[in-house]
Amino acid sequence: MHYISTRGHVAAQQFSEILLAGLAPDGGLYLPDAYPQVSSADLDAWRSLSYADLAFEILSRFATDIPAEDLRMLVRKTYTPEVYCNVRAGELAEQITPLRTLEEKDGGKLVLQALSNGPTLAFKDMAMQLLGNLFEYTLSRQHAELNILGATSGDTGSAAEYAMRGKKGIRVFMLSPHRKMSSFQTAQMFSLQDENIFNIAVEGVFDDCQDIVKAVSNDLSYKATQKIGTVNSINWARVVAQVVYYFRGYLLATTSNEQKVSFAVPSGNFGNVCAGHIARMMGLPIDQLVVATNENDVLDEFFRTGIYRVRKSSETYHTTSPSMDISKASNFERFVFDLLGRDAERVASLFRKVDTHGGFDLSGGPGSDGDEFAKVAQYGFVSGKSLHQDRLATIRDVHARHGVTIDTHTADGVKVAREHVKPGVTMIVLETALPAKFNETIQEALGHEAERPAGFGNIESLPQRFVVMPADAAEVKQYIRVHTGL
Ligand SMILES: *Cc1c(COP(=O)(O)O)cnc(C)c1O
Repeated sequence: MHYISTRGHVAAQQFSEILLAGLAPDGGLYLPDAYPQVSSADLDAWRSLSYADLAFEILSRFATDIPAEDLRMLVRKTYTPEVYCNVRAGELAEQITPLRTLEEKDGGKLVLQALSNGPTLAFKDMAMQLLGNLFEYTLSRQHAELNILGATSGDTGSAAEYAMRGKKGIRVFMLSPHRKMSSFQTAQMFSLQDENIFNIAVEGVFDDCQDIVKAVSNDLSYKATQKIGTVNSINWARVVAQVVYYFRGYLLATTSNEQKVSFAVPSGNFGNVCAGHIARMMGLPIDQLVVATNENDVLDEFFRTGIYRVRKSSETYHTTSPSMDISKASNFERFVFDLLGRDAERVASLFRKVDTHGGFDLSGGPGSDGDEFAKVAQYGFVSGKSLHQDRLATIRDVHARHGVTIDTHTADGVKVAREHVKPGVTMIVLETALPAKFNETIQEALGHEAERPAGFGNIESLPQRFVVMPADAAEVKQYIRVHTGL
């Protein structure tokens, strides 16, 4: 399998070559030159597989340059009940992403799929844990090392650190805004004592952290000598690892391939639901892909109107589902590429327009850039939006009726899913975090704290390891240089 850029850069690349890459050289995102197709016979054969072996079947079609026995070893090491152990009462850790039926509505079932049982209690572990093992494997074969530099406001940083801790050849330098994360998230990251993990608390806000990462990445010679890499949400391996749990959810929720299911996905950067789109393009019988946003409704606006309009920082809200607080959806270009019939030239010109004019319009209306919005429904996409009061009401309702506490992001998913349930079609809501991570809002909704999984009880009182630094790229560079010795 070869990978191409959404903006037309032609040098076809293999999976291992883009594993450590971010954007393609032309500023586009990598996608396979064609999606591998899955047959009904494949689905039948996969019904009895463990999560790890299902992951092998799917990933082996994308990572064709990794020897099969090595890939099988990597997925079996990644997807174990020991890693995904933070299950709720009544869930089976062996299933890795267990389902829980909430209710029947209009003859359609509403089901939660738990993706947040990994070490950091959010779905980003599903892909990041695999990435950690893939990186270690490829680096050791190349006798190479890698220094991951990232910026986080919470979930990504901790998922990356727990995936890379103790890994040979890898160091993580993670910038976070000093005293701006929740105490739980801060403790998760800063309590790691591994020597290859470096927490840098920046005196500033998240945007300052991101600016520093950009400044360092733009210094190409520094980047090369310090062997800097990133693990942000456009990373192809992260997206493809997420494809697996759509298959898993489908196979757990159905008994025959005649049945269709829908997925509702709490969305920010469009990474998670992009994986659902890819699963559907591979032939998985998905009816609808329901994009749920919070107050930051860039994606809901597009899927309602055909207009993609990125927000300024002053129009980007800090909400109680903070991992969905985005001003633009960085993986969206992958879907637009398919929507436009893979016309890379048009994709390039539309996303240039995003840079110069803040967006584009595919509504087909006067002066628009195209009429492809009419085709969006063929791809199964629908959307909706959920606000703070909706989150509170949904958390209360699900707790009262089903005895289950859901987190704020999942609540956005449930709220919007309920607006799209159809008779006879199971709607799977992806549970993207456990409520313990977002306790303040659980307290507000329910009047008590969320239960914490075993081992997280006193996480805030563990010793913390971090340095505080001004928002200054030169100081961060110097710090990295000293600690890599390169
Ligand atoms: C990252 C994250 C999201 C958003 O996922 P995208 O892939 O950016 O759309 C939703 N919920 C939680 C809890 C997250 O950590």
